[in-house]
Amino acid sequence: MGAIDTVLGLIDEHFDRSIEKLFELARIPSVSSDPALAGECRRAALWLSDYVSSLGFQSRLMETGGHPVVYAILGDLNDTTKPHVLFYGHYDVQPVDPIEKWTNPPFEPKIDVAKDGTERLLGRGMSDDKGQIFTFLEACRGWIEHTGTLPVNVTIFLEGEEEAGSPSLERTLIEQAGDLAADVVLACDSAMWDRDTPAIATRLKGLFHDKVIVHGPNRDLHSGTYGGVAANPLRVLSNILAGLYDADNRVAIPGFYDEVEQVPASLRQQWRELGSAADAALGDVGLSMPVLETGYTAMEQTWARPVVDINGVGGGNQGPPRSVLPSQAWARLSFRLVASQKPDVIRRLFREHVASQVPSDCRVSFEGDDGCGAYALKEDNPFLIAAARGLEAEWGRQPKFPGSGGSIPAIGWFKDHLGLDSIMVGFALDDDAIHAPNEKYDVRSMRKGTRSWARILEEVSRVDLKWRRTER
Ligand SMILES: [Zn+2]
Repeated sequence: MGAIDTVLGLIDEHFDRSIEKLFELARIPSVSSDPALAGECRRAALWLSDYVSSLGFQSRLMETGGHPVVYAILGDLNDTTKPHVLFYGHYDVQPVDPIEKWTNPPFEPKIDVAKDGTERLLGRGMSDDKGQIFTFLEACRGWIEHTGTLPVNVTIFLEGEEEAGSPSLERTLIEQAGDLAADVVLACDSAMWDRDTPAIATRLKGLFHDKVIVHGPNRDLHSGTYGGVAANPLRVLSNILAGLYDADNRVAIPGFYDEVEQVPASLRQQWRELGSAADAALGDVGLSMPVLETGYTAMEQTWARPVVDINGVGGGNQGPPRSVLPSQAWARLSFRLVASQKPDVIRRLFREHVASQVPSDCRVSFEGDDGCGAYALKEDNPFLIAAARGLEAEWGRQPKFPGSGGSIPAIGWFKDHLGLDSIMVGFALDDDAIHAPNEKYDVRSMRKGTRSWARILEEVSRVDLKWRRTER
């Protein structure tokens, strides 16, 4: 029997105690977006710091100016004989409103059995992300109980502001980079492909917002006197917005696609085999005709093609009929980018494109946010391959490598500021009701998730050190 079998046995043997400890954490209402609960966020951080030090980690709180990071290490930052992983998760949770929709109080976690016999852990944060954090911690516990240490060096990094947009995280990563040296990030805040098929998300989109304001006459004008004579900012803006996409549903901003890389044929093939989930999703919203870029499936569009969306438009009369030419018109837009497209470059191209279409009589101004870049993990990354092996051993089938249309700023910042790729493994299910009333995490997700991490840690310990030193 190998060490891993003993570790898995210990995980199963102590599973009830793992759930008890998870419930202790879940009773702390660490809602990061509510200033009145800042003390509870700190209490959750302290609880975790104590807990991981009881497992054998050296632990402390890393101050960020906002809610603290739980920082713990087992191993040595200077030890180059074993891979060093940085585990990322978050201990803060979403607010609980509407509270009346909860069948069980959100911060009084319990186990219940669904009608179909599925055992579930009920409570806020069970799936997002306290339960998922625990899958990793309990895997570490199994290894430490059996061997006194871990097969790899581990830094634990748990933030407390993820559900509030991670306002302190980027600065913390830059300032504390010296304490965050590692070879790879392992993150647990994502979902399975389906109940029986694990997944490693390999792509995230970048995101930024921009607001365009077209300024025309110095006041609203009477349309009988000025209609057809004075420039109308809403007409100017409408023309620009109407021209954002061409007849093939491609973004018509010059240079927009210059840095976009084609998805490798092998990955496109895998995605095609995954089916057309995105097409099916349209049924839910009362539509049936995808507006796809010519030549791409809905899945490719969502995961690997950049898009611009008009989020809102305003200006002029919003009340009963009134015949005016507005003095101003505005639109808010969001840009979802793919890897290699830089937010500041795309923002500049967009603004130049808009400005070139505004008549010299009008003026245009912009208000935007910094946004975050996209992220893509190469298919031959050895840590990805190692994690996939661990997952396959536990679940009896190969994991899928889906993309995502969403954005997680932290993952891009780990790459930008620490030079680290992230392996995003998670055991959440689509029906976990994260961010909603009656959040749950299946007992099976918790048990097999913990066992998965135990196996992944062993697989990662076998990654060739030469690769790490030369390719990183
Ligand atoms: Zn989360």
